[in-house]
Amino acid sequence: MKPPAFAYHAPRTTDEALATLGELGDDAKVLAGGQSLVPLLNMRLAAPAALVDLAHLDGLDAIEVSDDRVRVEARVTHERLRRHPAATDAVPLLREALDWVAHPVIRNRGTALGSIVHADPAAELPAVLSLLGGQVELATSGGTRTAAADDYLLGPLESDTRPGELATALVLPRPGVRTGAAFDELSRRHGDYALAGVAVTVTLDADLAVATARAAFIGVGATPVRVDLTDSLSGQAHDALAPADAVGLARDVIEPTDDIHATADYRRHLAGVLLERALTTAAGRAAAGGTA
Ligand SMILES: Cc1cc2nc3c(=O)[nH]c(=O)nc-3n(C[C@H](O)[C@H](O)[C@H](O)COP(=O)(O)OP(=O)(O)OC[C@H]3O[C@@H](n4cnc5c(N)ncnc54)[C@H](O)[C@@H]3O)c2cc1C
Repeated sequence: MKPPAFAYHAPRTTDEALATLGELGDDAKVLAGGQSLVPLLNMRLAAPAALVDLAHLDGLDAIEVSDDRVRVEARVTHERLRRHPAATDAVPLLREALDWVAHPVIRNRGTALGSIVHADPAAELPAVLSLLGGQVELATSGGTRTAAADDYLLGPLESDTRPGELATALVLPRPGVRTGAAFDELSRRHGDYALAGVAVTVTLDADLAVATARAAFIGVGATPVRVDLTDSLSGQAHDALAPADAVGLARDVIEPTDDIHATADYRRHLAGVLLERALTTAAGRAAAGGTA
């Protein structure tokens, strides 16, 4: 199928993009990498009157790494971020999560921030943003605001991106010392959206026992489902985890549903298996000194 007709705007500067989005309001959609929006247009599941394409903007393409955070602007593709040593050394979970995102062709066009705005419940980066307590920066021609991940990710394919707004950057805090992370998922074919997946961070104390443990699941709820596992795991030695309680807790909290790919029961079981593996990996990485 072909997309419905739309007006096409190709601003050259961020100010021009914000002015255009402000004028068009609800009628416009931002076109970033197009890897989610174009299929939706072609299937006629979206029919905006106008597209505002970021491809020709001069700017919004920086990756900034500082002592306390990594900031990724709107035009940075998945693949560019995945291959950015300073960013992925600062937040190694980013690289592991991005390894699971789609295929190289899609990663070369799709943007990291676009995936967060798009808010697919099975997408990897929204879970990373939620787990690490990241933020999204947004702008209109009238000003800017910052939204915390949990306030921003509202539901399936629903983020708090308001008419006239452009999401300009995602911000991830750098994890603290003795923190390890891992991402694991299962999909029917590598590169497909996951049937279920999980991102985990484990922080150890000075004796290398678990101080805190957290998980964010994908594919088993309307948004990434964050679960604090600290009570179930704290005090356990990093190399002798007994994760049964944590797995039980997580399986109780998540809310998977049946679809043509898998039953809810299968997803619940799978989520627990993936969690157990990811916890072991993350604890080992934390003990080895890795910072998530
Ligand atoms: C076959 C296939 C497999 C895929 N597998 C995965 C996968 O496993 N994991 C995964 O996470 N993704 C997957 N994707 C999606 C891919 O990651 C997309 O790149 C991503 O979801 C959206 O990024 P984009 O830059 O392409 O955004 P677009 O498609 O251009 O936009 C998506 C939505 O976000 C809005 N938007 C984008 N950027 C902004 C912005 N800066 N400000 C305001 N609104 C904005 C658009 O208006 C639109 O509503 C897959 C896609 C395909 C086609």
